[in-house]
Amino acid sequence: MVQDKFSFVQTALAERQQTQRFRTLQAVQPIDAVQVQRTKPLLNFSSNDYLGLSKHPALIAAAQNYTAQYGTGATASRLVTGTYAIHQTLEERFAAACGREAALLFSSGFQANATILPLLVDRQSLVLCDRRVHNSLIQGILASQARWIRYPHNNLEQLEQQLQRAQSKSYGRVLIVTETVFSMDGDCSDVDRLVQLADQYNALLYLDDAHALGVLGESGMGLAAHRTGIDVVVGTFGKAFGSFGAVVTCSALLRDYLINHCPGFIYTTALPPAVIGAIDAALTLMPNLTAERQHLTQQATWLRTQLRVLGYDPAESASQIVPIVVGAESDTLQLSQWLEDQGILATAIRPPTVAAGTARIRLALSSRHQMDHLDHLLQQLQAWNQHESFT
Ligand SMILES: *Cc1c(COP(=O)(O)O)cnc(C)c1O
Repeated sequence: MVQDKFSFVQTALAERQQTQRFRTLQAVQPIDAVQVQRTKPLLNFSSNDYLGLSKHPALIAAAQNYTAQYGTGATASRLVTGTYAIHQTLEERFAAACGREAALLFSSGFQANATILPLLVDRQSLVLCDRRVHNSLIQGILASQARWIRYPHNNLEQLEQQLQRAQSKSYGRVLIVTETVFSMDGDCSDVDRLVQLADQYNALLYLDDAHALGVLGESGMGLAAHRTGIDVVVGTFGKAFGSFGAVVTCSALLRDYLINHCPGFIYTTALPPAVIGAIDAALTLMPNLTAERQHLTQQATWLRTQLRVLGYDPAESASQIVPIVVGAESDTLQLSQWLEDQGILATAIRPPTVAAGTARIRLALSSRHQMDHLDHLLQQLQAWNQHESFT
């Protein structure tokens, strides 16, 4: 009998269904910086729009102006005719704002990580990466075919041991890969120590600054800005910058290397004018958003304290990302659904995105959340505790 040529798809999906991990897309309609409409309005605690900039009038106006002036598409890849002056100016402005030698735009953070890493390491290399790095970094490492070892999360003693061990081997290069703020835990890495270790062991250092850019560091330019010793920093514009796309900051030498060798830069259409306009406007706003960043940080600190009072576990969170680690997947889904019934959007994050047994609600705060929003959230979490003890 001829086998159905899609039986492998059915098998893969059936397996997801059996383990309650089958995922579907659920549309929302944006209302404002902190609310979305599903079957009813929901207070959104699941977006990465940490400063509410995706709805900011200055970004919207810039996107509209750039579209009116330059059109809806960049019409070609950067090396053909897709490099407009606005792309170059933005790169120069961004590098200057971070105090880094050079900057290069990418279509997305995923594309940057997946296609830059294979240019930095090869079969003769060793990659040492944090156990919890983002999937896009793993894709890049796998594509490089380098040997790779994951060190326990944020355990830089273990990283150092691996670096020591690597010295007696004949690796062509050693590369350290990690994030500055971890996307699912909201904790931070010790950037000073990473720089020291990279320097001491002559390793390359690659940092993904996606969740710090716009939120942390001087003028919100991230945890890798204004410092030497970090070879590659990736920032994304889809989060606190309220737009889309990514940027790599590095030396002028590395920038030339990427322009000439990186397939994820070369073989793709340049970012469209609307996106460049929005990013440019966000960059202009950044130094003036100090009060918003402070508010965000204070709210996150307060939320963590109150969560602990209620008996919830925000793990090691030290940023605007505040997980509630529940553990079991079914409990996490139930809590998420309960919150949605109470008008709160707080999505469950489950394996394989996080390790088995650490399913969680990932709360992400925005500077546009006010005290009454947090109060409402905490009241519902308290009500859930009571509800749970009666069922
Ligand atoms: C979101 C994210 C990315 C991907 O960035 P996109 O621009 O959304 O593709 C990469 N790394 C980390 C750590 C992220 O959180």
